[in-house]
Amino acid sequence: MPLLVMKFGGTSVADLSRIENAAKKVQREVARGYDVIVIVSAMSGETNKLVSFVEGTSKLYDAREYDAVVTAGENVTAGLMALRLQEMGIPARSWQGWQVPINTTSAHGSARFVSIPRDHIDQKFAEGFKVAVVAGFQGVSAEGRLTTLGRGGSDTTAVAFAAAFGAERCDIYTDVDGIYTTDPRIASKARKLEKIAFEEMLELASLGAKVLQTRSVELAMRYKVRLRVLSSFEDTDENSGTLVCDEEEIMESKVVSGVAYSRDEAKMTLVTVEDRPGVASAIFGPLAEAGVNVDMIVQNISEKNYGSHPGAVTDMTFSVPVNQVARAQKAMEDARSAGLINYDELVADTEVAKVSVVGIGMRSQVGVAAKMFQALSSENINIKVIATSEIKISVLIDRKYMELAVQALHDAFELDKA
Ligand code: ASP
Ligand code: MG
Repeated sequence: MPLLVMKFGGTSVADLSRIENAAKKVQREVARGYDVIVIVSAMSGETNKLVSFVEGTSKLYDAREYDAVVTAGENVTAGLMALRLQEMGIPARSWQGWQVPINTTSAHGSARFVSIPRDHIDQKFAEGFKVAVVAGFQGVSAEGRLTTLGRGGSDTTAVAFAAAFGAERCDIYTDVDGIYTTDPRIASKARKLEKIAFEEMLELASLGAKVLQTRSVELAMRYKVRLRVLSSFEDTDENSGTLVCDEEEIMESKVVSGVAYSRDEAKMTLVTVEDRPGVASAIFGPLAEAGVNVDMIVQNISEKNYGSHPGAVTDMTFSVPVNQVARAQKAMEDARSAGLINYDELVADTEVAKVSVVGIGMRSQVGVAAKMFQALSSENINIKVIATSEIKISVLIDRKYMELAVQALHDAFELDKA
C-alpha cells in the first residue's frame, strides 16, 4: 500500500469541528488507496496553557515533569482524531510516543530521535487498520521517561515518520496555504511558491518564515522526504500548497526565490582589539560559552595598518539577537577582566534588522549582490554589515527601513512573477 503522512497543526485541530474537518481530509486520502499516518499537534493554545501550569507550580521545574505535563496536549488530539475517524467508519487507532515507541535522547524539552521501530504500526496496517494516529512532539528516553522535541516539534515528528515508513509524501496542514516569496503582511505582492528546494526552505525557515520547524526541514533534506505545506482551511487537491523538495525536482529555479527578514537583531562592535593570532577565538569562545547566538561576523583592518606587527589593531563586528546583547556584553567584560582580550569599547546598535535574499540559482549566476545593493541604494538604505553564503546574501540595515527593503528587493528580483 502506498503510504502518506498527514500532519495537522494546532489551528487545524483547534476544536471538535476542526478535528472533523481534518478527519475528512484523511478520509479522502484513504479513499484514494493510501494507508495514512496522521501526526497531530495539541489544540492551539493548549501547549502554552500546560507550560504556564508548570511554571506556575515550580520556578526551577524538573524538566522530566515538564515533559510529562506538556505531552498531554497531543495525547488528547490523537485520541479524539482516532475516535472521529472510527465514527466515519475508518479503522484507526491512536499511539502515544512511548507506545510506538518513539525513542529519543533524554535531553528533556529538546530531545532528538534515536529510532522509530516500525513493527507495531506495520502490523496494525497488515491487520486492516487504515490510519495510525500518532501524537506529535513527544517520545520516550532510554530511561523510560516522556520527552518532548522542542516547540513546534510535531513537524519534525511528521518528517521522521515519513522517513521511517518510506512515505510517498509528508503533508503539513496548517493555517497558511503555502510558502510565500516573502511575508505577505509586509509585501502585498508576495506570491505563493509552487515548489521550493530544501536548502532554500532551510534558509527561509531559520530566517524567520515560521511555517515549519527548522529541524523538520533539516531532517527532510537528509532523508529526501518530499514535504508539502498546505491549508486545512481550504478545499485542497494534489496540486495545492507548496512542495518542499530536492532541487532536482525543480526544473527552472529562479536566481532568487525569496526575501527573508529578521527584525530583532543587534550589531555589536569591539573597538580596537589586537590584530594577532588567537584574538577571534578569545572573543567567540566566551560568547559561545555564554550561549550567545552569533550570526554575522565581520573583521577588517585598514590596509594602511596591515600586518601582524606589534601594536596592530582591528575592529571586530558581529550580530546577535537583540535580547542577547546584555549577555554578550557581560561575556566580553569578563573576558577582558580575565586578560583574554583587550578592547577600548563595545558599541551596541540595537536598532537593526537583517534582510536576506535566498535562492539556489545564485550558485551559477553573477551580479546578484550588485542588484541587491542597487535596489537598497535606490531607496537610500544604508547597509551596515554584509554576509554571503552560496545561496544567500544578507544585510544588516536600520530596523525602520526593514519593510521598505523587503518590498524593494521583492520588486527588484521580480518575485511577483512566476
Ligand atoms: N504543541 C507543540 C507546540 O505548541 C508542538 C507542535 O505543535 O508542533 O509547540
Ligand atoms: Mg508549528
